[in-house]
Amino acid sequence: MSDTSVNHFSLEVHDPEILAKARVILETCLSGKEMQDAVIAAVKRNEKWRGEQCINLLAPEAPTSPAVRALLSAEVGTRAAEGHIGKVNRWFAGTKYIDEIEALCVELLKKAFRSRYADHRLIASMIGNLAVYTALTEPGDVIMSIAQPFGGHSSNRIDGPAGVRGLKIVDVPMDPVELVVDMDLFRKMAPLVRPKLVALGASMTLFPFPLKEMAETLAEWGGKIFFDGAHQIGLIAGGQFQDPLREGALVLTGSAGKTFSGPQSGIIVWDDPSLTHPLTHTIFPVLAATHQVNRVAALAVSAAEMIEFGKTYMAQIVRNAQSLGAALEKRGIPVLGSRKGYTRTHQVIADVRAFGGGLDVAHLLARANIVTNKNLLPSDTPQDWDRPSGLRMGTIEVTRYGMREKEMLIIADFMARVLIEKQSPDRVVEDVIGFRRGYQTLFYNFDHGLPPPYETGA
Ligand SMILES: *Cc1c(COP(=O)(O)O)cnc(C)c1O
Repeated sequence: MSDTSVNHFSLEVHDPEILAKARVILETCLSGKEMQDAVIAAVKRNEKWRGEQCINLLAPEAPTSPAVRALLSAEVGTRAAEGHIGKVNRWFAGTKYIDEIEALCVELLKKAFRSRYADHRLIASMIGNLAVYTALTEPGDVIMSIAQPFGGHSSNRIDGPAGVRGLKIVDVPMDPVELVVDMDLFRKMAPLVRPKLVALGASMTLFPFPLKEMAETLAEWGGKIFFDGAHQIGLIAGGQFQDPLREGALVLTGSAGKTFSGPQSGIIVWDDPSLTHPLTHTIFPVLAATHQVNRVAALAVSAAEMIEFGKTYMAQIVRNAQSLGAALEKRGIPVLGSRKGYTRTHQVIADVRAFGGGLDVAHLLARANIVTNKNLLPSDTPQDWDRPSGLRMGTIEVTRYGMREKEMLIIADFMARVLIEKQSPDRVVEDVIGFRRGYQTLFYNFDHGLPPPYETGA
């Protein structure tokens, strides 16, 4: 019984053509089973293409281990376990093994991050950021966070959880050349607005933050640092980046599905006992009820993987990123941070203005099965978000498939064939598929261990 006076489809934010195509598929199905098959077929197409034939350089992606993938479809994922761990703390009976799984997850997270407290129930890192703002600020408070052209993320800006909390947001001054906080300016600006929290963390993240110096400045009025380590949280667990909790951050959040290489969801850890009640009581009952216990089990196993393999895995990720950055620059593709070794994380940021900008370049490379994303650069404005100048790459997935520095040179060659030599991506794609065929085993996990050592040349 539809209201024919309004074209509801025209009110969709999603791409109307793609939705229309889905309706056509469903209309031609003769049964519910065929509708199911249509969904599964799309999943299989992605699995073959992205899973087996692409060089995936999306910085926020990580392939999960066989154990983590298996747990994501475990029976326990159908169980309801609202509340905190323990008989009295839950709504439901029948949760004795769920308590065990969740307690293992909490303790494994504490171990992985060498922290006193952790929570396992964030179904996204954005929820973790909302938990921080809900528990630690009041509407009207001033915070500082990083603007989008410097890599800032909506979750700490006006259009995300911080904005929803009604916070006043002032930009953290950044140095556009060094790509780090401009401390001289920060020391001048921060006392003028006296932020309650300074949210550090960015989706474009290349170099460490001057945490200790910033914390010293904020101490004057009791301001604190909240480290949104969405991207770097695996590097932090593996000891390959700065250690925010030890350097003066009050609380650390992060995405479990980025460098941490676990199930897509969130992680939150902290040391200060006075935060435990506010944060835990915000996570439940405010922000997470049915928190997906299959995901919790998978998160626990990925924490165990990090404890065992994190140091080697994360160190190789960073070496690969540095190697990819140098190789791209050498082939004529300008890379940010060249003076400082390109990166101290998994990310490489190229300035692709000369090749048509981030949007066109990302789509051109995707035709050659090289998957990257467009990215704002410091020289862009936030309004340039749809057609920015930069291209962001990350080395998490290629590393987990066993690639090392020499493979980064091959990837840079593929990219240069498309961007510098202007070869058609349709020509390059066959070579990419052939190359990728040799890297189908996921390492740094308990099924396959470490990648085999290089054969030493005679
Ligand atoms: C990805 C990202 C988030 C959001 O994390 P999800 O786990 O995807 O919800 C938050 N902050 C920053 C800086 C990010 O890059």
